[in-house]
Amino acid sequence: MPRVPSSASDFAACARCGYCNAVCPTYAVLGWESSSPRGRLRSAAEGRRDLGAAGRRYDCTLCGRCAQVCPVDYDLPALWHHLRGKAVEAATAPPFVERLARTVDAAKNVFDLPNDERAEWVAFMTDAPADAFTRPRAEVLYYVGCVSSFSPAVQGIPQDFARLLTAAGVDFTLAGGEEWCCGFPLRVAGLAPQTEALRRHNLERLAAIGAQRVVFTCPSCLREWREHYGVTQVELLSAAEFLDALVREGRLALGPLNLSVTYHDPCDLGRGCGVFEAPRRLLAAVPGLKLRELPEHHLDGVCCGGGGDFEMRDAAAAGEVAAGLARMVRETAPQAVATACPQCQRMLQEGLHRLGEELPVWDLAQILQRSRQEGSSNG
Ligand code: SF4
Ligand code: SF4
Repeated sequence: MPRVPSSASDFAACARCGYCNAVCPTYAVLGWESSSPRGRLRSAAEGRRDLGAAGRRYDCTLCGRCAQVCPVDYDLPALWHHLRGKAVEAATAPPFVERLARTVDAAKNVFDLPNDERAEWVAFMTDAPADAFTRPRAEVLYYVGCVSSFSPAVQGIPQDFARLLTAAGVDFTLAGGEEWCCGFPLRVAGLAPQTEALRRHNLERLAAIGAQRVVFTCPSCLREWREHYGVTQVELLSAAEFLDALVREGRLALGPLNLSVTYHDPCDLGRGCGVFEAPRRLLAAVPGLKLRELPEHHLDGVCCGGGGDFEMRDAAAAGEVAAGLARMVRETAPQAVATACPQCQRMLQEGLHRLGEELPVWDLAQILQRSRQEGSSNG
């Protein structure tokens, strides 16, 4: 069992091998030993509580790759969470943390926008139904999440996912302005106690809707619900798993798409929720689509730079991490990139832009919808 180092003997077990440093995406761009997993572990072992050490705790995307390679089986991401909580308690966390706490408390989303605009993306669809996908009760609740609700660059994800659900005849609803932030951005900032009101509210909405399933196009929201919402009677599924089942049941016909596509494993979907094969099965189900793998994938999947609130801590460095992933994508010479997370999509777009690459980045839902549209128009 992976363990969270806490005692002096636990900390002493670190072999100082540096395997964690070798795979750490933020260390790769920041370059400071104090920002590396090994360096942060060392400062925790030494009990350092100064502002510099506390700030370094946020030089991390919480991608989980370090834990994957640690020979003494430390649960390093759990330690990073714990240390961020301690930084908040000691009022030594970076200034963005308090801003984030205030924003989510007041707005119920991380963008500080009116929360009743959460489903505005529906208004941009010419084919949306009159009820705008909002029904008082439904079998399935589609929990959209802050990023694709509010970020125009990725609003195509919920639009196409809603189209696919409609085409498959799924009885689903959005919670609209009654959907509140899931709590994940607060938890990773070290603000776990503040997630409770959000959790309670979202669970009340779920009960009122009476859904038997909740589906998520954002793996971080899925992870928050799976690990912290205490839901036992309702199924929580990633969009990839849900769509995979619909395709296998013959409820979604896919048309040909002659395209080579490289799939990127989002950290929270892959290492976080263990969902690796459903996205690949979906892509393989599209006739004509040639699936390519990155040099590092599955449990060794490479972070996009967008996790762990790292972008709020250091947007420039997060962009450099994204550019590193984009370089790796370029090595596989695809015609498009597929992923299954709005934040990964945003970061990959940013990374490719930094390299001057024009490659399109699509979510699985967008690729499937494209295959339905282009496939049918191809005949
Ligand atoms: S979780 Fe990822 S970013 Fe954070 S220390 Fe580990 S490898 Fe580095
Ligand atoms: S991989 Fe594990 S044992 Fe090696 S330096 Fe990192 S924390 Fe220590």
